Amino acid sequence: MEEKEASALRDRYQAVCSNIARAARQAGRPESSVQLVVASKTQSVEAIEELLKAGHRLFGENRVQEACEKWPELKARYPDIRLHLIGPLQTNKVKEAVELFDVIETIDRDRLAVALAKEQAKQGRKLTYFLEVNVGAEDQKAGTPVASAPELHRSCVRDLGLSVTGLMCIPPAGQQASPYFALLAKLASSLNLPELSMGMTADYPLAIELGATYVRVGTAIFGDRK
Ligand SMILES: *Cc1c(COP(=O)(O)O)cnc(C)c1O
Repeated sequence: MEEKEASALRDRYQAVCSNIARAARQAGRPESSVQLVVASKTQSVEAIEELLKAGHRLFGENRVQEACEKWPELKARYPDIRLHLIGPLQTNKVKEAVELFDVIETIDRDRLAVALAKEQAKQGRKLTYFLEVNVGAEDQKAGTPVASAPELHRSCVRDLGLSVTGLMCIPPAGQQASPYFALLAKLASSLNLPELSMGMTADYPLAIELGATYVRVGTAIFGDRK
């Protein structure tokens, strides 16, 4: 990566960090209450390394296959990297996912939760999990329906012993996101879950205003994806 490109990348990263801190302050929350998950899908190891050199350690990937190609080597060099899976997970990828990720944000059905519980026991690992909620009730979108979230949460925690700490959502595209963020916040509060993963490039300051503890940002840092 050319130095000019690398320096522009670092500048955009710093700008996002400042925006997050400002949004937190404006919401009357400590800056440390919001964490940036850099969404690095499709990005090169080279670009990711610029952010690692700048001190960033928390990243989100969408596809298990792609993450397995990029991250084991980076994790060996930067052992304090934390990786979130933010894309849908197929049960046939559960083994690789449990090996690589620290947090899986996208539990949205019982069968997947059962497979994850089995696999983490087998590997002797203990991951942290969020439930993905289909806040806009969109047919094509992943996520548990809002009405089924309490039941899924109960079976994850009570029946399977999974450490579920939060909820995640991707609101419908092209609509005002705030009612959906508010809905997720209300649901999390009713389930006593402290973490809220919501907000992307277009709307992360708004998500922070409405209680996000994790924002997932890609484009504002890397530029448009190829
Ligand atoms: C790609 C992606 C993001 C980041 O989106 P940007 O608009 O590029 O910031 C966040 N969350 C999920 C689940 C994604 O797939």
